[in-house]
Amino acid sequence: MSFEWNAHRFSGGVLALDLANTVIFREDRKRCLDRFADPAEVPRFAEAAAIFRNGEWGRVRFHAPKSQDGIKALIDVREVVNRLFRDAAGHARIRADYFSEFLHIGSNVVGEEWSEESLGLPSLSDRIRDLSLGAAAFLSALRLLDPARLERIKICPNCHWLYFDESRNRSRRWCDMNVCGNRAKARRHYVRSLGHAGNDHA
Ligand SMILES: [Zn+2]
Repeated sequence: MSFEWNAHRFSGGVLALDLANTVIFREDRKRCLDRFADPAEVPRFAEAAAIFRNGEWGRVRFHAPKSQDGIKALIDVREVVNRLFRDAAGHARIRADYFSEFLHIGSNVVGEEWSEESLGLPSLSDRIRDLSLGAAAFLSALRLLDPARLERIKICPNCHWLYFDESRNRSRRWCDMNVCGNRAKARRHYVRSLGHAGNDHA
């Protein structure tokens, strides 16, 4: 299967949300799809993320886990990031139980890092950073806890992705106007055309 990790797949705007968005249609059990069901997609995502998240991290290498345990730990990070911020986006709050779980899982992945690696929050430095995908996603998520950032996290009504709305007046309605925005527009058009057809028939 040739699946492309293109710019659209990185509509989340920050690594933490892009990682959460490796599951599509989260709020619809029938359509829900996990891109990491095929473990070969994990290193492909890590490689593409280093390119598309250059604006968040500067020059960086994200190491994808290789072992089954490593992949499970990454998925744990992904799922707790999703729970915490999906709830935050819907209710403008940080739930204590999700937050505690997030810190616990994050502490574990950070504890697995090479001890001399600098684990500061994402920033544009001249030095190439080298860290695991799970630790990087946790650090990216920590930065979102700032209330000014937290209030910019939204849920796309079409694909259910989480995204960081950087628009000046926080007016973005879709993860990606060119994909989900257009699909919604086409659907409205289709529904309208059905309405007209019905009228003609009558
Ligand atoms: Zn979307």
